[in-house]
Amino acid sequence: MHRAHHDAFWKTHAVHHSSRELGWLASVRGHPVNVVMQRAPIAIGAVLLGFDLTALAGGTGAFALYGLLLHARVDWDFVPLRRVLASPRFRRWHHSRDVECNFAGLLPL
Ligand SMILES: [Zn+2]
Repeated sequence: MHRAHHDAFWKTHAVHHSSRELGWLASVRGHPVNVVMQRAPIAIGAVLLGFDLTALAGGTGAFALYGLLLHARVDWDFVPLRRVLASPRFRRWHHSRDVECNFAGLLPL
């Protein structure tokens, strides 16, 4: 889905990438259409798979906090898990203007 946002849906995803300097607030900067398109499939899929709504609410909150960390202005890369778990350094690479890579939101594996 994130790749599609960098291609067919770039006009809405570009809002998220419009920060001149990446910081934790970039995590919550997004076009409403982009936000719904990214989150609705995950939420609908989880409900259809039978996940408990309370667990989903907790997971959503935890993932939102993780998003704030990923976009924070810190140079952490979670060695030795850097190839498995997305880190602020990994996210900064994605937000750099030179390359189109590192689309994973959580598991770059
Ligand atoms: Zn992106």
